[in-house]
Amino acid sequence: MNRSGLSRFSRFRGRRARFEHDRSDRAAQDERLRVLCRTAKQAGIGTTRALAERLSREGVDLDIPRLAGLKAALDGEARPLKPDVFEAAGAEIPADALRLMERALDGQLAIAGFGGFSGRIANLFDYARENRAGTVASYIPELARQDPDRFGLAVCSLDGQRLALGNAEQAFCLQSVVKPLNYALALALNGENQVHRHVGREPSGRRFNELALDPDNRPHNPMINSGAIMCTAMIRPSRSVTDRQELVQRFVASAAGGAACGFDEAVYRSERQTAARNLSLVKLMDEHDAFPEGADTDAALDLYFRTCSLTLDCQGLSVAAAMLANGGVCPLTGHRVIDPRIGRNTLSLMLTCGMYDYSGEYAFSVGLPAKSGVSGGLMIVIPGIAGIALFSPRLDRQGNCVRGIEFSRRLIEDYPFHIFAGVATD
Ligand code: GLN
Repeated sequence: MNRSGLSRFSRFRGRRARFEHDRSDRAAQDERLRVLCRTAKQAGIGTTRALAERLSREGVDLDIPRLAGLKAALDGEARPLKPDVFEAAGAEIPADALRLMERALDGQLAIAGFGGFSGRIANLFDYARENRAGTVASYIPELARQDPDRFGLAVCSLDGQRLALGNAEQAFCLQSVVKPLNYALALALNGENQVHRHVGREPSGRRFNELALDPDNRPHNPMINSGAIMCTAMIRPSRSVTDRQELVQRFVASAAGGAACGFDEAVYRSERQTAARNLSLVKLMDEHDAFPEGADTDAALDLYFRTCSLTLDCQGLSVAAAMLANGGVCPLTGHRVIDPRIGRNTLSLMLTCGMYDYSGEYAFSVGLPAKSGVSGGLMIVIPGIAGIALFSPRLDRQGNCVRGIEFSRRLIEDYPFHIFAGVATD
């Protein structure tokens, strides 16, 4: 990556969600469209098709809902690029799409130089694939049946630039990767004070399913099993478990930009049959009055298993990660999924507690909020830039996917994505 690219990435950037408030006035917008067409022409882009090609070379996925108007304007035969092509197509070009085109022509998209970036990511992916260390989780019998060599990766940037490698479109069950999303939903429904009355925000320093509570008799944090069960207890407790599952499923799908969020019935049943440890965690919390008054703890545990058994593919998960990277606004739809403050809280806990007993090491050496799960999923958030999702069922001693760790470490060697990289550049 060249120097200017490097400094662009490493700069501390405004973290305000982009494209959220699009209310610039019409005349100003028309003028910007004129300037855009002129700039494009100077760059040798004279037709609608050439512009569409340029955007897709930069990795921009024109099929995302947020860019529907732009796609309609650029579709079809090549036409001379003039402001009126946008009007003639009857397409509404939101200020957001206009800014995106401006940035693309200016080499200022969230991931600058997407061609080079994709090539580099593909190399890191191939490199990680060579790593055959680690074993598939077996304590949930259904997970033991996973193909150890399946490997997928997807990237989604804040500008809707997308990349998919290997088995990126094969769904897998999220397991613990769903925990940050359950936490975010519990916050949205109950508020921060209520949620943290019942779950801490301190790394436990123990295994994810350890029978232990903090000094206030709360689970240590929402990223371990006890804390995650506590969060599910706070998701619409008055409704039926199936309604609550459906709510989480809709929430996950909207975080993932409308991706299909399924339910793996076989994993769910398998988990219920091997529930001894999670049942013990519930008993421990119950014994210490950790649950909110009147909570139905069986239902909370059932909902927990159900949410662990929700499925997404890497593509969808990378969008959910990008939504977190974008302060709570989904980069595919432009919809706000969670408040910025909830996004910030979720990222803080992913950074400190998201990678099991490797969280401190991961924060130190990779420096990015992330969450792994025993099925082999991993989501990584690059704040202000992109989300990445990986799936590889080979796990290391701590329960993290081996290839995901390998990929993360190499990514940070090549790109200044570590959240503190900015303080180390001159
Ligand atoms: N459902 C799994 C369990 O409760 C989730 C654990 C994980 O992914 N770390 O044990």
